[in-house]
Amino acid sequence: MQNRLFKIGYGYDSHRFLNAQEKLTLWRQGAISNNTEYFAKDKKLVIGGLQLEEGLQKIFGPFKARSDGDVLYHAITNCLLSAHGDKQARDIGKLFPNTDEKNSNRNSADFVQKAVDLIKSSDYELIELKIMFKGVLYLEWDKIESNIAEFFSYQNNEPNIHLQATSGEEMDDAGCGLGVEVFVVCLLQHKMLTKLMQSIS
Ligand SMILES: [Zn+2]
Repeated sequence: MQNRLFKIGYGYDSHRFLNAQEKLTLWRQGAISNNTEYFAKDKKLVIGGLQLEEGLQKIFGPFKARSDGDVLYHAITNCLLSAHGDKQARDIGKLFPNTDEKNSNRNSADFVQKAVDLIKSSDYELIELKIMFKGVLYLEWDKIESNIAEFFSYQNNEPNIHLQATSGEEMDDAGCGLGVEVFVVCLLQHKMLTKLMQSIS
């Protein structure tokens, strides 16, 4: 692939909460499993690396997902992989298949870290990461931004990380509280350009 000064990435993910029937089955049986899904009884609602408080856990329950279902980390991972642009690492599913039992209730920080490692070993670094969260939950956005920034603490050039939220205004499933959608864009810059800018500033 031809060298560029910048590369953009786009990522998206959505997960729904367990429905009432699933929550009841989980409560009775302890776990439900089949080829593509797994609901562990100890699975918690995690968003942006934050485990939500017990009250919210009770209301919403965990996401329906093979992994821990961290929808925000999944969208970020897909966004970083999109910018990286390696077809062998096209998206999360390619790196961590949901048919693999090793990925059951897996900490989604592993997904982000894998994408970060790929970028770290490339000629590029992250300069912009913009996240739009769509759902009825109000979270500690600053804390989530810090969690994300931690992945890039190895960079001398600190990236701009910005997280916004919108309720969805009862317009669709996310807006009605049935799940969450996350949209992410990012910009990577060639390290050569970073060096050049540092040398003239
Ligand atoms: Zn996901």
